[in-house]
Amino acid sequence: MSGSALYESFARAPLAFERGEGSWLLTASGERYLDFAAGIAVNSLGHCHPHLVAALTEQAGKLWHVSNLYEIPGQRRLGERLVANTFADRVFFTNSGAEALECAIKTARRYHYAKGNPKRFRIVTFEGAFHGRTLATIAAGGQAKYLEGFGPKVDGFDQVPFDDWDALMACVSDATAAILIEPVQGEGGIRPVPAAFLQKLRALCDERDMLLIYDEVQSGIGRTGRLFAHEWSGAAPDIMAIAKGIGGGFPMGACLSTEAAAEAMTPGTHGTTFGGNPLAMAVGNAVLDIVLEDGFLDEVTRKSLLLKQGLASIVDEFPDVFEDVRGAGLMLGLKCRQPNGVVNTALRDARLLAVPAGENVVRLLPPLTVTDEDIRAALDKLREGAASLAMPATGTNG
Ligand SMILES: *Cc1c(COP(=O)(O)O)cnc(C)c1O
Repeated sequence: MSGSALYESFARAPLAFERGEGSWLLTASGERYLDFAAGIAVNSLGHCHPHLVAALTEQAGKLWHVSNLYEIPGQRRLGERLVANTFADRVFFTNSGAEALECAIKTARRYHYAKGNPKRFRIVTFEGAFHGRTLATIAAGGQAKYLEGFGPKVDGFDQVPFDDWDALMACVSDATAAILIEPVQGEGGIRPVPAAFLQKLRALCDERDMLLIYDEVQSGIGRTGRLFAHEWSGAAPDIMAIAKGIGGGFPMGACLSTEAAAEAMTPGTHGTTFGGNPLAMAVGNAVLDIVLEDGFLDEVTRKSLLLKQGLASIVDEFPDVFEDVRGAGLMLGLKCRQPNGVVNTALRDARLLAVPAGENVVRLLPPLTVTDEDIRAALDKLREGAASLAMPATGTNG
């Protein structure tokens, strides 16, 4: 046995942090790392944002938890604010992204059940998707590496290739309850779905009484420069799962729904012990205070352009390390010509934290509060990391 009491299900870097300040993480010995992983798009306002620290500590002195057997004013308020700023009429709070997806899936199935169509429970998903690690969400994601060894795959999920309309049309049937899609695939390699594809999905779902479910667990809460990534397309969903950025580091998620889709989720049909508790709601409301401030999302877009331009020139400078830049807002990816794990380690050695993703991409997901100075520092570190991997120029010894 190795020295740890923990499951070995994570391949952890040999690195631990003691504190965080804005876009930076510090080890116990004071080494500074620039955090463009942000807890995988979770630390939307960076580390220890004073407004979040104040909201959390103030609530901690008053009330941590009561069950959903009682009114929770902070939950009511955050729900109303999410409804006011989105397509949604109803919100269910969870502790995580996977649980938000579970609620979305149950809501879609129950909608058709209540209409007298209990056999209409299948959901179409897309290759490269990631929806979480529960039994239902690994079935929805459809990735063999996450399903292997965990018994029969939960029934009711059909998968089609990414951005392939003909395959989708061949797959939908009278048994299809909903279509589930990430407007920008995160884990799958920072792949934005074309706006026209989302618009066609919306029209198809309207025509066939199917529900359109978005997974904006990673792309939501300002990450792409709009509150939610699908807003760029104008195609609203019926149901949407969110998490990650809404808690700014406090574990929380939510399932948003239209009135029509949520109607069948009557008392007793669904529940959670911890979801929406006062501590989580205090932090979620505080995150929205900042993200909804006038000009905040415009700043995300401005900083995205600055970072993207820098990344494009690095791709030009190191053509044997990087192939292209992709993504939207501060949800960017560098497609690599060398294994992305190797590139990610070289960046870490240069003290820049990033996250590997599918399609041999390295993800850059800085806090939305990242400064221009942080961006310049990140570009310097990227150059340093890339230089350590670049082939020597022809003509020199080699
Ligand atoms: C992270 C993620 C999830 C799962 O969230 P958990 O909080 O880990 O359960 C689901 N969907 C997407 C798109 C994600 O990025």
